[in-house]
Amino acid sequence: MRSGARARFGSHGRRQAARIRCGATAMSQLLEQLIQALRVLPGVGPKSAQRMAYHVLERERDRGQRLAEVLAAAIARIGHCRRCRDFSESELCAICTSSGREANQLCVVESPADRTAIEQATSYRGLYFVLQGRLSPLDGIGPRELGLDALAERLAEGEVQELIIATNSTLEGEATAHYLGQLARRHRVRPSRLAQGLPLGGELEYVDRSTLSHAFGSRVEIGESDHAQD
Ligand code: ZN
Repeated sequence: MRSGARARFGSHGRRQAARIRCGATAMSQLLEQLIQALRVLPGVGPKSAQRMAYHVLERERDRGQRLAEVLAAAIARIGHCRRCRDFSESELCAICTSSGREANQLCVVESPADRTAIEQATSYRGLYFVLQGRLSPLDGIGPRELGLDALAERLAEGEVQELIIATNSTLEGEATAHYLGQLARRHRVRPSRLAQGLPLGGELEYVDRSTLSHAFGSRVEIGESDHAQD
């Protein structure tokens, strides 16, 4: 449409088109781009994004510059740990390379935020595996996308004795837990699941520390018939 408008109306057409894109206000194109870019953040709608953009330009230019630099560096340099899939700047993360962790316990979480929540709320000293998601066939997220082939290889190494399944208690989290339980049993690893106190449908990262600590401490071994889908 844009090229057609330009050909037909020249610079007047361009101004018209820009006005249509900006709505009623004559906003700088770059400012509009900044507002759109800020909306990538969770929970940030158009009004919040606009407030943030004005705030940075009016009062926080230096720190805004710092934010832009750190954001660019983080995106360029932070990848995933080869062993646990958590975020890491190096090939292996600090937890995977630590000599102070118990290698016979492996806790599976959906996200790095869940791993952090468990680290902060409990005294767990084992290792982690971060799925970076949950099984969701409708969204095209299957075992391969969650790195479960790598997890299976790790269980086959024979060092892990307990697989602590700390996926969220949502429908997809439970389906993922079911799959992980079967995977563990196939490799003769004991699967356990965080037990009491976690709200149904809740996301681990938002559960308060004492509840999470209690649920982690009172985890139970899961058997063949513990899931509705068995
Ligand atoms: Zn790691």
